[in-house]
Amino acid sequence: MTASRSPQDSSRRQLATALASIVGEDNILTESEDLQTWGQDWTRFYSPDPLGIVFPRSVEQVAQLVQYAKNNRLPLVPSGGRTGLSGGAVAMRQELVVSFDKLNKIKSFNETDQTVVVEAGVVTARLQEFAREKSLYYPVDFASSGSSQIGGNIATNAGGIKVLRYGLTRDQVVGLKVVIGTGDILELNRGLIKNATGYDLRHLFIGSEGTLGFIMEATIKLTVPPPPLAVALLAVPDMAHTINLLTTFRRRVTLSAFEFFSDAALTHVVEQSSLSPPFAKRADFYVLLEFERRSEQDMTGAESAFESCAESGWVTDGLLSHTEQQRRDFWQYRERISESIAPFTPYKHDVSVVPSAIPDFLASVDALVAKEYPDFQKIWFGHIGDGNLHLNILKPDTWSVADFRQECERVNDKMLKLVQSYKGSISAEHGIGLLKKSGLHYTRTASEIALMKSLKQVFDPEGVMNPGKLV
Ligand SMILES: Cc1cc2nc3c(=O)[nH]c(=O)nc-3n(C[C@H](O)[C@H](O)[C@H](O)COP(=O)(O)OP(=O)(O)OC[C@H]3O[C@@H](n4cnc5c(N)ncnc54)[C@H](O)[C@@H]3O)c2cc1C
Repeated sequence: MTASRSPQDSSRRQLATALASIVGEDNILTESEDLQTWGQDWTRFYSPDPLGIVFPRSVEQVAQLVQYAKNNRLPLVPSGGRTGLSGGAVAMRQELVVSFDKLNKIKSFNETDQTVVVEAGVVTARLQEFAREKSLYYPVDFASSGSSQIGGNIATNAGGIKVLRYGLTRDQVVGLKVVIGTGDILELNRGLIKNATGYDLRHLFIGSEGTLGFIMEATIKLTVPPPPLAVALLAVPDMAHTINLLTTFRRRVTLSAFEFFSDAALTHVVEQSSLSPPFAKRADFYVLLEFERRSEQDMTGAESAFESCAESGWVTDGLLSHTEQQRRDFWQYRERISESIAPFTPYKHDVSVVPSAIPDFLASVDALVAKEYPDFQKIWFGHIGDGNLHLNILKPDTWSVADFRQECERVNDKMLKLVQSYKGSISAEHGIGLLKKSGLHYTRTASEIALMKSLKQVFDPEGVMNPGKLV
């Protein structure tokens, strides 16, 4: 029996042949399990429905894919480690997912320049490891660095726990090779430290979420390894005090991280792991701060900062790491939060204000969520030293994902308006993607959004690059 062939079947076959001629049959996946896996990131609010997944192995193949997509109006979704939290790598409208999993080589290292050239699919932790092997340091770090890729980090301008000391991903990138939506290949800045030749297009791609083109390779600046580090874990009765702690400790030690989390966050971590609570008497909030321990004077400085905070009533208890193992153990309380709440399909607010506005801002957010989400559990944590708050609203078991999301979005406008009133950002480090798109205007003006759209039009005239995301 011969099956009748529809025009749709035939165009699918043509597509499959074209893609196979570019990347090879072995580098295409279309099984439904694979579509589910590669069609989504860490957000769980969307149903993936990609057309297929391709795994290119060279810049030229990606340029050909873009040419083909442009000529055939085939939407493309760049896909990195899929740890994104805004739906940027989600494909749910028959897009072709372009995965960087097979473009994962560390291409070269220059000891004099202290730079490394990596393909976009290199996993963040692999770059950290490579830097260590060269007695250098790659400072961008966060709980998902074992899975996220450099291309994804650049496309989202990822932040993490060391921003206070070393800056964002943007601050580490000295060169980029990209394939833009026209199919052209651009080499931007080429590793130069100084380059005063007009618009720095490299920075347009950092944080562009795959909407202008594909990041193919990056030249990354490494730095000298930090001196030995120590961590203080502090019990804090009121989150408004966190910024007093930041100011007090900063006077006495060089901070490399300053994080906070709520007791509810700690409870989830303890429940989902073998860790015991750090203090006999629980506090409402905790601050984890890390500082450079160049000499014993730094430890004395931290101790005296702690005493001064205790006298002021800003901390009720504290622990100081004296060994590297203790330092790592203390970090576990903070680093395991995202994973321990993931089963509750959290609705994530990733917002920022200038650090000095934090006490007022936290109080306003607290008042808002207490009123608007009385029945939902709220988990507070964040990189508070750089003004970044992660507020996670957990889905009760009895709610469906769709109803829960709708209810969270009802409050979203009020939350984002509040952020706007503090001149803050509605997405500090997770990007806009699909999830935050409707709120972009709370941080970007109409003129800015119009300019962003014009730029997209220049770099991606046919609109094939991650359509529907960001702008
Ligand atoms: C447990 C956990 C903790 C996290 N902590 C932090 C944190 O502290 N700080 C932080 O900033 N983020 C954090 N994240 C979010 C996430 O890890 C970052 O956004 C990361 O940079 C995403 O990288 P990825 O490779 O997984 O990108 P993906 O999720 O695959 O993609 C992200 C975006 O980049 C685009 N993209 C991917 N690769 C390319 C490419 N080669 N060219 C062009 N566009 C591309 C995608 O289309 C998408 O828009 C966390 C996530 C989890 C799950």
